[in-house]
Amino acid sequence: MALLQISEPGQSAAPHQHHLAAGIDLGTTNSLIATVRSGVAETLADHQGTHILPSVVRYRIAGEPPIVGTAALAASIEDPLNTLASVKRIIGKSAEELSSIPGQYPYQFAESDSAVPKIETIAGAVTPIEVSAEILSVLQQRAVESMGGELEGVVVTVPAYFDDAQRQATKDAAKLAGLHVLRLLNEPTAAAVAYGLDSQPEGIHAIYDFGGGTFDISILRLTKGVFEVLSTGGDAVLGGDDMDHQLAQWMGQQMGIDQPLEENPSQLKYLLSEARRAKEQLSTAAEISLHLKFGAFDWQGLFSLQQLNQLIEPVVQRTLRIVRRALRDANIEKDEVSEVVLVGGSTRVPLVAQQVEAFFGRAPLQGIDPERVVAVGAAIQADILVGNKKDGELLLLDVTPLSLGLEIMGGMSEVVIPRNTTIPVARAQDFTTFKDGQTAMSLHVLQGEREMVEDNRSLARFELRGIPPMVAGAARIRVTFQVDADGLLSVSAREEVSGVQAEIEVRPSYGLSDGEVEGMLKDSYRFAESDRDARMLREQQVEASRTIEAMEAALDKDGEELLNAAELGKLMQMIEELREMRSSEDSRAIEKKIEQVNSESEFYAARRMDQSVQQALSGKSVEEISP
Ligand code: ADP
Ligand code: MG
Repeated sequence: MALLQISEPGQSAAPHQHHLAAGIDLGTTNSLIATVRSGVAETLADHQGTHILPSVVRYRIAGEPPIVGTAALAASIEDPLNTLASVKRIIGKSAEELSSIPGQYPYQFAESDSAVPKIETIAGAVTPIEVSAEILSVLQQRAVESMGGELEGVVVTVPAYFDDAQRQATKDAAKLAGLHVLRLLNEPTAAAVAYGLDSQPEGIHAIYDFGGGTFDISILRLTKGVFEVLSTGGDAVLGGDDMDHQLAQWMGQQMGIDQPLEENPSQLKYLLSEARRAKEQLSTAAEISLHLKFGAFDWQGLFSLQQLNQLIEPVVQRTLRIVRRALRDANIEKDEVSEVVLVGGSTRVPLVAQQVEAFFGRAPLQGIDPERVVAVGAAIQADILVGNKKDGELLLLDVTPLSLGLEIMGGMSEVVIPRNTTIPVARAQDFTTFKDGQTAMSLHVLQGEREMVEDNRSLARFELRGIPPMVAGAARIRVTFQVDADGLLSVSAREEVSGVQAEIEVRPSYGLSDGEVEGMLKDSYRFAESDRDARMLREQQVEASRTIEAMEAALDKDGEELLNAAELGKLMQMIEELREMRSSEDSRAIEKKIEQVNSESEFYAARRMDQSVQQALSGKSVEEISP
């Protein structure tokens, strides 16, 4: 009988044991899982030797696991309503938001009282989180079989522009699949890691990711192991699918189909899948022969790479326009870019790689399979996070996509963590009370670049209660914003004198599409000037209210005692004038009026001061004297 080994508490039973970890690229079109074995990161294949798992889930019978991957994809024509594809587009979004997302969702959304939308299927209503969990489960199973043990942890990649809700939903999907998420990692960062760009001392890199239905460009700056996303750009409905559509139209013409393809869905699906196959073949051939047959339509002929290039040229040009914009946003010239990394299956199209090279004037990195590169980078990161490398090299950090802040008086937004701040990050800012004796404070957490609250996105509201009554402005409320390595925000508030505290983990139920993020950024530039004016006006209005309140409180207390009737009347009238002025749109006029009130009430302030000095000298408090 073997002796049982007992390890010291706190010490690993097997110090040289390799921890099992994996990186997962949960893609819109395709998903992959990869791991580091003997120091080499590689994607894992299924029993048929296929690495790529189409991100498609087909529900059949309630209570039975759905079909995931290639077989599900094949059923999308015959069983479109139960075969769910591209759920990444809707994960982390509210039912309301779905109507504003570009692209069509052919699914039936179920009535739901929760914020998370549900898709009706033959096996019951499912959420995008559950659908994603099915994909993750299949990948996990593949890893367990291939690696011979349960995974200790995984790194799951997400687009750089994913907001808090989308990241949280992705994490929830992994949890639901029984996976321990070591870290969510931005896809472009993962691609850069796969090429070892993180081991260079510094550099600016462009990650060009052209997938099935999405295009993303990220400009990253690396300094001492910190990846900063300088800018992101993209189009949520621009991808290989668009090339397929161009080609399908052309094929329809050749076949002599003259009614719009959209009118016959199964014909359209047939042509799209033929188009996709032809496109993919032409990435390794100069010419192919086609035989298209649908119903009575029949056509045979040759199709060349040159013809394909002509059809898809506009699609490629669109991506380059977005790249140009992202460079401009990052304030980077083309020649400052050290490396260009190609990611996504659509970069296999020769014209794409050629045009990207021509644009940047340098050969892009494409040595690693562009469809696997994100999973490979995630696997490398997972290997380190799970503790397989001695020195925890490679500290990967990302940045916040939009500014985070709080609503302050006057409906304005005060930024606490500016956009593009490296995460994880904690920032504190002190706020104070507005009214005498104020015992509660309501905090409104905002995301966005605009000056006014209503133009930004409301993330959460919470209240700090139990503030000891003090005069306005005396309380010191420290509000701390913390964004963790996964990009998730928590906010806490603490009154420093009394120590009362309130806390909230921000879990917005709705996400933003990247188009919306872009829109919000654009607005912030476009409206910068009018925002500034609006802010000045609100500031003056708030200041006016403060002045009115302070004056009235003072007059209430000792106005009759310290002032004669004429003086009192004059001051009351000035307060009235200021009150009227406050609702005007003229911030300069309000400011002048406040100054006037202040200067004309100076004598009264002086008398109050004298009185309190005398009271202090005679050792009596105001309370003791006043009746
Ligand atoms: P996603 O990141 O959106 O999940 P992928 O990076 O897996 O997508 O890319 C899928 C797209 O890549 C599809 O449009 C597919 O047609 C295209 N693609 C895959 N292989 C090739 C190829 N050899 N030539 C051209 N396009 C390809
Ligand atoms: Mg991808």
